[in-house]
Amino acid sequence: MSPEEKNIKPTIPLKLLVDKKKTRVLAAEATSDFVNVLLSFLTLPLGTVVRVTKNHPGSIGCMNNLYQSIEQLSADNFCTKACQSILLSPRNPIALVCKNLKLNIDDTSNGKCFYCSNKYYCSGRKSHYPNTKCTCGGIADREMSEGSQPSDPECFVKRRTMCVITDDLQVLPGNPISLVKVLCNLGFSDVDQVEELSVDVGLDELLDLNSGVVCVDNLYRTVESLDLEWLAISKNEIINAGVLKQYKCKNHPLQFPDAKTISNLLDPRSPTGCDDCFGRFMEGPHLFVVSDNLIVTPLSSPSSISFLKELNVPLNDIEEKEETIRETEALALLKASLTSSALNNCFKSSGNQKFNKRNKISKIQNLPRGGT
Ligand SMILES: [Zn+2]
Repeated sequence: MSPEEKNIKPTIPLKLLVDKKKTRVLAAEATSDFVNVLLSFLTLPLGTVVRVTKNHPGSIGCMNNLYQSIEQLSADNFCTKACQSILLSPRNPIALVCKNLKLNIDDTSNGKCFYCSNKYYCSGRKSHYPNTKCTCGGIADREMSEGSQPSDPECFVKRRTMCVITDDLQVLPGNPISLVKVLCNLGFSDVDQVEELSVDVGLDELLDLNSGVVCVDNLYRTVESLDLEWLAISKNEIINAGVLKQYKCKNHPLQFPDAKTISNLLDPRSPTGCDDCFGRFMEGPHLFVVSDNLIVTPLSSPSSISFLKELNVPLNDIEEKEETIRETEALALLKASLTSSALNNCFKSSGNQKFNKRNKISKIQNLPRGGT
């Protein structure tokens, strides 16, 4: 490949259907290359979504605050250096499928991993994160490709698939009937009111597609209803990608399914190279303060005082209340984190007079937040 060819950024052609009068995009006609990119959004870990969109307009609830907090915590809060890397650059559970994408916003899905340095007497143990301790006592630091590249790579949908994509990310079969339904739903009765516009989509345009929870929900539902004949891999791998067991949390209230097993994969969180999945990220027993909008800081006397000053409320108005996080609360917290404030929305149902008083406190100290 010549230097000039290396500098050419890949793009995917897309045909937009535009309203002549209102100059808005009504829908798009796309090939399998673009549909694959859209479906890959459903497999992205939340940390990746925050990382790749944080410098673009809009934000995902208060997840940016949580991400920045993890970035700013010192390494001694974590079991190993890799623990922080896993949270900030989490591994897509089906990264080997995503590396075949024509445009990939997730740079961790590059098919690279690190093999144990004891290559002559260790049986090919590997890690997605450098310098992981191996069970044999060696260190996984030899960067190599994790899998071979198929000659005709398919990702999620079969090649030569054509789709109609609505503005709110519903994916429909690419045929005139789908188009008629979409246009009629938008109030169009005359096809002459619609114009075609050809564009090339690159990584910059994709990162601006910060689509919001509602649109991603539409995308998820349409994949649920897609005919299996369209798909190149199992539908469950797309809509229920799960978590690799080497990165799961023990005792997590939300029981995510195991992702497809990768043989010989080490747990980079284990300081000793222990073969069992280690199951935690943070070194204990540290305590933290978590604000309503998910800013996490280590609990220390100076930070507690500054936190109380920021609240700017009479000390008599502050009370202690214990909460237990079970599955219901964990789901509510996740949902609230993706939309607006987190702790207030999660725990307001358990409110009483005392909570109402604290609710006022949170409103005072909340920082401005982005939309969905
Ligand atoms: Zn080894």
